[in-house]
Amino acid sequence: MHPCCLFAASAVSSFVLVAQSAHAQTQPTTPAQPPMFATTKVEGTDNVYVFRYQNHQSMFVVTPAGVIVTDPISYGRPQAATTYIDEIRKITQAPIRYLIYSHHHYDHIAGGKPFKEAGAVIIAHKRAKERLEALQGLDVVIPDEAVDEKRTIELGGTALQLHYTGRNHSDSSLVMLLPKERIIFAVDFNSLGAVPSRLAVNDSYPVEWEVSLKRTLALDWERQIPGHPAPGGRLGTRQDMEQQLAFMTDLSAEVKKASEGGKCFSPADTELKLPQYSQLQNYEQNLSWNVHRWCGYWGRGI
Ligand SMILES: [Zn+2]
Repeated sequence: MHPCCLFAASAVSSFVLVAQSAHAQTQPTTPAQPPMFATTKVEGTDNVYVFRYQNHQSMFVVTPAGVIVTDPISYGRPQAATTYIDEIRKITQAPIRYLIYSHHHYDHIAGGKPFKEAGAVIIAHKRAKERLEALQGLDVVIPDEAVDEKRTIELGGTALQLHYTGRNHSDSSLVMLLPKERIIFAVDFNSLGAVPSRLAVNDSYPVEWEVSLKRTLALDWERQIPGHPAPGGRLGTRQDMEQQLAFMTDLSAEVKKASEGGKCFSPADTELKLPQYSQLQNYEQNLSWNVHRWCGYWGRGI
């Protein structure tokens, strides 16, 4: 037998063995992978849902007059958008009236075409519209309408407020607030119980981010749907956002001192610690990225 086929044959037989042994086990040793996608009604609401596809999430609101959808979350996987629509259609046949982008990053907003074809009006912050017009990204639909500081969408008895609370993780983030439910959908600028990731801080706006968190906390809400699932699928709380603000305030003060001592970027990026936050998720792996970004701000003015 040709070596390739020998390998294939042995791979098949070991697969069968693995499959049999897995079948025989009553207690699997590794946790099952979560399903590719899931749609969940938010507890305590009549019509607010979270659509998760792999590691991204999007909120949608169902009313008798139509559906308000948010991020298509289909970057590099157009099937996520069509799955999203299929999931909505299991709940309602009402028309999809609006598609609202949380900010301009493709991993959240690529894949709007099927929603546009279904008749949705696409809305984003004005800076998101400007950026997307300049970028002309593949599979990214340019918003039809732009929001500056605030807009309220009224549909079928539901109000959804769109608030711009300033530059944070991006310069185009909208906070979507359901005032009756006191729920916000806010993406990538509040890391629930975690130190922000490299991608969260990469092109972010230090100090202004703190102001944006304060402005978001000044809104009347109690639960946050995040753009990436938190452990156990939990929603965010005001305490999460207050903790993120405290972390950033202390990070900024410490990095400013380090910068004034001539320690930016190095050795601050490896030496600077914030032990009072060491209980946060990903503290060890992400802290240096945060120090690096804030060093850029305080040390170089960028
Ligand atoms: Zn983002």
